Amino acid sequence: MNKKMNIAIDGPAGAGKSTVAKLVAEQLSFLYIDTGAMYRALTYAALRDAIDLTNGQSLFKLLSKITIILKHEKSGVRVFINEEDVTDAIRTKDVTSNVSLVSSHELVRVEMVERQRKLAGNGQAVLDGRDIGTFVLPDAKLKVFLTASVEERARRRFEEQQEKGIDSNLDQLKDDIARRDELDSTREFAPLKKADDAVEIDSTTLSIPEVAELIIELAKERAM
Ligand code: C5P
Repeated sequence: MNKKMNIAIDGPAGAGKSTVAKLVAEQLSFLYIDTGAMYRALTYAALRDAIDLTNGQSLFKLLSKITIILKHEKSGVRVFINEEDVTDAIRTKDVTSNVSLVSSHELVRVEMVERQRKLAGNGQAVLDGRDIGTFVLPDAKLKVFLTASVEERARRRFEEQQEKGIDSNLDQLKDDIARRDELDSTREFAPLKKADDAVEIDSTTLSIPEVAELIIELAKERAM
């Protein structure tokens, strides 16, 4: 496989990007970079420090002081802010409902993008997010835009939460997902958008392994 090859997977919330990206990375022996986890980590730190989430300058100042580490362990990727393991803390409702506001600030994004480009610098990485194909890695060898209907995305999230024993409401999940998509697609700086040269995959009727298989096939074709 081409040493310089990076794979960008973008799309709306809950389309299965991270699960698919993890599988693809595993099977190709690539590095998996969850860029959403980085925005979530900053949101968590900002909430904890009671920082005004509408103030890009303050968020940028906080970001400059923290190191966000994506540590690859046997059990999966663990997320650290400096020494602190925040893997579970960044998945709470509070973080999820505020992350789109935090990630809308240009100052925050420019810094995050620089960190993400460094992480992907060596090639052989799979990045999932919202602006990877359009902004972070415009030259990625393979760009995928992964979608699914809002109903299906909410249903999957609902099942996931049921399995974890978390109480949730399907309609509420649907509203939350739609709201996050709206914020992510309409922000001024680097909004969620399909890159012109991205391959769109609708996963509504496909399983996660089927989507991963499709992407691996495409990656192999592009690597030739
Ligand atoms: O992928 P995940 O749902 O964890 O991302 C959380 C949030 O982080 C998104 O809703 C979006 O606001 C932001 N994000 C972003 N750009 C990325 C990745 C995530 O703005 N590349």
